[in-house]
Amino acid sequence: MLFWASRLFNGFEWSREVRIELEEDGRIRSLSPGSPPPRDSQRVGLVLPSLVNAHVHLELGPLPLRAPPQDFLTWIGAVLGSRATASREQIRAQAEAGLRALRASGTGTLSEVDSMGLGMEALAKAGREQPFEVRCDAEVLGFSLEADQARALCEERLASIPEGLGAGLSPHAPYSVSSALFREAASMAVPLSIHVSETPEEVEFCRKGTGPFRDLLISLGKLPQAFGAPGCSPLAHLHELGLLGPRTLLVHMQEICPGDLEILEETGSPVVLCPGTISYFGRSAPAYEAFRERGILCALGTDSMASNEELDMFRELAGFRRMFPGVGAAELLRLGTSAGGQALGIPGAGCLREGDSFDALVFSDFPQSSVAETTDILLSRRIPPFILYARGRSVL
Ligand SMILES: [Zn+2]
Repeated sequence: MLFWASRLFNGFEWSREVRIELEEDGRIRSLSPGSPPPRDSQRVGLVLPSLVNAHVHLELGPLPLRAPPQDFLTWIGAVLGSRATASREQIRAQAEAGLRALRASGTGTLSEVDSMGLGMEALAKAGREQPFEVRCDAEVLGFSLEADQARALCEERLASIPEGLGAGLSPHAPYSVSSALFREAASMAVPLSIHVSETPEEVEFCRKGTGPFRDLLISLGKLPQAFGAPGCSPLAHLHELGLLGPRTLLVHMQEICPGDLEILEETGSPVVLCPGTISYFGRSAPAYEAFRERGILCALGTDSMASNEELDMFRELAGFRRMFPGVGAAELLRLGTSAGGQALGIPGAGCLREGDSFDALVFSDFPQSSVAETTDILLSRRIPPFILYARGRSVL
């Protein structure tokens, strides 16, 4: 197949008048910027890599709340409550609707955190008809689990991930996962994603063992008698347990404690920011500039419909730009494409270079405009129609 694109973003930078030749298997054979349009090519206005959503929970639907709760613990209670009352059919339908929304808004690669086996089921089913590149991290929870039970849980959850999905684990968070469970998850030698440093209450719990998370664990009967607080930041706690490294996604990193930036820099763990969740809870902007200054890899995710209004990565990019208006157009798009692929450890995801799979958004017509104006249009909700390509085939 042969395309000629008036403009192309390859996940890193823009080029113009690009001849794009694909192999039979959907990989890019050649990319030649500055080429005249070949006679038998399909001429299009704009080509972008399909977007990378670095953090989503497909199983979580909107909560039956009139307004976002003021505090995080109330929200957790509402999530647990809605999970307990929804039927498996409702959750399955939610996951499938989430996938349709992601596909319709241009996501081609995603990192799912699966709690109940229904998100991974929806992904496996979709994969047969509509290939997504997927990393599926099976959630593990348990603040009172000892090593043997923890190992059994990790093995069982990993074994439940269908073939064809990239398999990882998601030890949920420092207030819901015991040290033994964290260690066992790390020992499985698979990619990990962990919610960390999301709230001041989590920091308090790790530093001192006090606060609302202590109360919650006591009320659930999950605080072990012998529990002692780590006495450090949530991130330092994970570091001490040997959890960090380039294959461990750290989701949120909203509360930065002294020493955390050095740990991130030293370990190379990528950070995933979720602008929709930040605005849902009315949180302040995260420490993106400090991350960037130290070369810490950042990617973006939608998180779930329980703390966001839509599963749409263009909307996340727009939300990110509102927090960081000074971030340039190419840097912004990188966050939703190549940086996400790199953070997820999926080679070529979010990239359109020679040899990469043609996973792309192809806009037949796109208004002639500068790079800055093009980005404005993409983030403005006035986005022209596009066709999603996965492995060189159109899927939308
Ligand atoms: Zn999450």
